Amino acid sequence: MSDCIFCKIAAGEIPSNTVYENENLRVILDISPANPGHCLVLPKSHAGNIFEIEENLLKEAFAAAKKTASALKLSGLADGVNILQNNGEIAGQTVNHFHIHVIPRKEGDKVTLKHEGVKLSSEEMDHVGEAVKKALN
Ligand code: 5GP
Ligand code: ZN
Repeated sequence: MSDCIFCKIAAGEIPSNTVYENENLRVILDISPANPGHCLVLPKSHAGNIFEIEENLLKEAFAAAKKTASALKLSGLADGVNILQNNGEIAGQTVNHFHIHVIPRKEGDKVTLKHEGVKLSSEEMDHVGEAVKKALN
């Protein structure tokens, strides 16, 4: 997509700190990292989000996220890793080109990804479960 910054980065038209590249993907350092080593997995072909991405490319992107996570551990930059993938403005997506965050974690770091649980009655849980099950099947 011509006006998509991640298309341009993935294609190498805009410079990035690339840590891995193959025919279909580029893995780069996030310009504003949550922690040192925070990486983004970018497919080279444009899909806006998880709803749009083709399934084989999705699998390849998550396999690259796994490889990146292992590399972060091996390099000593991470003791644990958060995989984050935002879809839609409401979910915090700021760049509308599918990407996976691989966020290295260390004891005592300042990253916060916690949520407060919402309280649902067992009837509400059943209702929600039924709605999702119906949509999935
Ligand atoms: P989102 O909020 O869409 O899930 O994440 C977008 C991420 O892309 C942010 O963490 C942001 O720092 C990163 N980002 C935005 N523009 C650039 C850029 O030009 N280069 C790099 N390396 N990262 C970027
Ligand atoms: Zn794009």
